[in-house]
Order: sequence, then C-alpha cells, then structure tokens
Amino acid sequence: MVTREQVREALRGVMDPELKRNLVELGMVRQVDLTGRQVQVTLALTTLACPLKDRIVGDARQAVLALDGVEQMEVRLTEMSVEEKERLRPKEPASGAAADLNDIRHVIAVMSGKGGVGKSLVSALLANALRRAGKRVGLLDADITGPSIPKMYFPHGAQPGATPTAMLPAMSRTGIGVMSINLLLESQDQAVVWRGPLIGRAIQQFWGDVLWGSLDYLIVDLPPGTSDASLTVMQSLPLSGVVLVTSPQDLAGMVVRKAAQMAGLLRVPILGLIENMSYYLCPDTGKLHEVFGPSHAQETAEAIGVPLLGKLPIDPEIAKLSDTGRIEEFGGEAFTSVAERLAAVALPGRPPAVMPA
Ligand code: ADP
Repeated sequence: MVTREQVREALRGVMDPELKRNLVELGMVRQVDLTGRQVQVTLALTTLACPLKDRIVGDARQAVLALDGVEQMEVRLTEMSVEEKERLRPKEPASGAAADLNDIRHVIAVMSGKGGVGKSLVSALLANALRRAGKRVGLLDADITGPSIPKMYFPHGAQPGATPTAMLPAMSRTGIGVMSINLLLESQDQAVVWRGPLIGRAIQQFWGDVLWGSLDYLIVDLPPGTSDASLTVMQSLPLSGVVLVTSPQDLAGMVVRKAAQMAGLLRVPILGLIENMSYYLCPDTGKLHEVFGPSHAQETAEAIGVPLLGKLPIDPEIAKLSDTGRIEEFGGEAFTSVAERLAAVALPGRPPAVMPA
C-alpha cells in the first residue's frame, strides 16, 4: 500500500516550470487522500488562470501514477491566498522569463499604411475566426498610443492576471488571451505619449513578461503607418508574417512601397492584402456603393506580389458591436471568408516563432 509520505516524495520530483522549485517545497501540495489504490491530491496553484496548469497537473499525475500500488490519481485544484502568492514572488524577477515558458507557433502582425482603415478591427476579426476554428489564440495590442482592442472585447474593462513572475493576458468570452497597454492603465481614456524606444520596450515586455502559454496564433495589432513605432514593434517580435490592411482611400503606391520595404528589411513575408471599407451593400436595394471611391486592391496586391485576401464591406453592425465589447458576436460572411483565407495562408507548417538574437 502506498503511503502519504511516498506520494509527497513523488511530488517532490515535480517542478513548477515557472518558479523552478518543486511542488512540495512551494507549498502547493495541500492535501493527500488515499483510498486503497486511489490517490487524491489537492494542489494550490498561484492562480487558476495559469496557462501552465495542465502541464503541472500532468506532471503530478505522471509522478504519482508511477508509484507501486497506485491505480488512480485525481488532482483537485485550488488557489493560493494573495499573501502566499506574494511570498513566492522572487525579490528581483528576471525580466523576459515568461518568454521561455511560452510556446507560440505563429506570430502574425496586422499593418496598415495609415490610421483609421480598420487595422484593429481586422486583427480582432482574424483572432475571432481562428478561435472559432478551434485554435488557441492570443491578441497583442501593440498600437500603444491608440490602443483600441480591449474596448472591442471587454464592455466593462478587464484586469490582466498575474503569477509571481509574469502577467497573464485577460481572457475574452470565447477564450482569446488579450494584452494591451489599455488593460494596465487606470482609465481607458488615459493618453499614452511615448517615443519609439519606450514603445519598443513595452512591446518586448508584452512578449517576455506575459505568460501566454501555448498558442497556435498570436495576432499583433501594430501601430498605424510605417513609422518608427511600427518598425520598432516589428523588430521586437519574432514575426512569422504580416497582413496589410488598406482602404480605397489609401495612397496605394505609397503603402505598397513602404510596407514591402519594411517587411523586406526585416525579412518577414507579407501573407496578403485586405481592403477594408471597400463598398457598402445597400440592404434595401442590394446595390453596391463604392463609398470611398473605386477599389485599388487588385492592382495593389499585384504590385507587391501578394494574394488579395479579400475586400470587406462597410457594415454598421461592426461599429455597434465593437463599441459595446461584443465583437466576438460578429459573423459577417465577407469577414469570415477573408479570415479563413488568411488562416489558410498563415503557414500552418512553419516552424515555431523564435526571437531573433
Ligand atoms: P485602425 O486600427 O486602422 O486605426 P480601427 O480598426 O480602429 O482602425 O477602425 C476605425 C473605426 O472604423 C472603428 O470605429 C471601427 O469600428 C470602424 N470600422 C472599421 N472597419 C469597418 C467596417 N468594415 N465597417 C464599419 N465600421 C468599420
């Protein structure tokens, strides 16, 4: 018969990957109950929202099930108190430590030639479509000076969580992890007036100090334009590809040249082009109106040599849902098919993203 002491001893062999100490030493093993060949262990995690939860539970199960005389092992989870958690916080947390614990396959940046063309919206709709397809998705709002992502997802604001060494993204209703400077400001209306290097550092923290866990896609909403700010962000992250968003109003030639130059400089492939606010389909007459003038999408895409992923209509439903934190409820067909096309070119077989040295 196995004893409680043997179970505890086995759990001494299980490390918390973040705190790099064993579960017993960290005070996580709260209770061990034995019924014949069945073991029930209660573990107290620093936070139940920890993306490493499954890994810790899996390792604990494996260690205990390996003991002679154990047939079943059940893990119950609880959360540490604030004080207990505080005691585990390293005196000087190593910055960037979370990056080693993250497992992010594709980092896709959404970029535009200028503000207001719907870059944030496209980022959000892409994240939603990937999530709907069952992918594990994160959304990083790197538009530091004009962050608009949280408002689309959290009608009453949101608080990012924390572990002893890292920040946790706020979770949307459908399970998209969202991180934005806006979630860290006291008021969503507070202005952020930062210069390039500071912005770059903030983004590096969103990469290195946020425990995203395992993600299939991290969608990055870049600052508008091809200025220093977006260059800094692009250099701070290991991008797998870039999606360009334009509107019929955009000076197509300029956007193409600059974006292509920038992506080329950073050796990041452009996955495709999306023209937003391309037309308005009148619900009464079914007539298509090119509100912002004729489309340049096809010629623009050809000029850069990338696929045109689609043209998106102006849809009043979008404004309503994105202003009330319900963007996940939007299912406009044109948008879904564009996102699906993008998901298809978003390199399912590419190697995992690795931060450049
Ligand atoms: P950007 O990130 O390029 O600055 P946003 O995504 O914030 O632009 O979009 C600007 C505004 O336009 C937002 O209020 C958004 O809801 C609205 N918008 C964007 N695309 C559409 C669209 N296709 N139909 C209706 N409203 C849109």
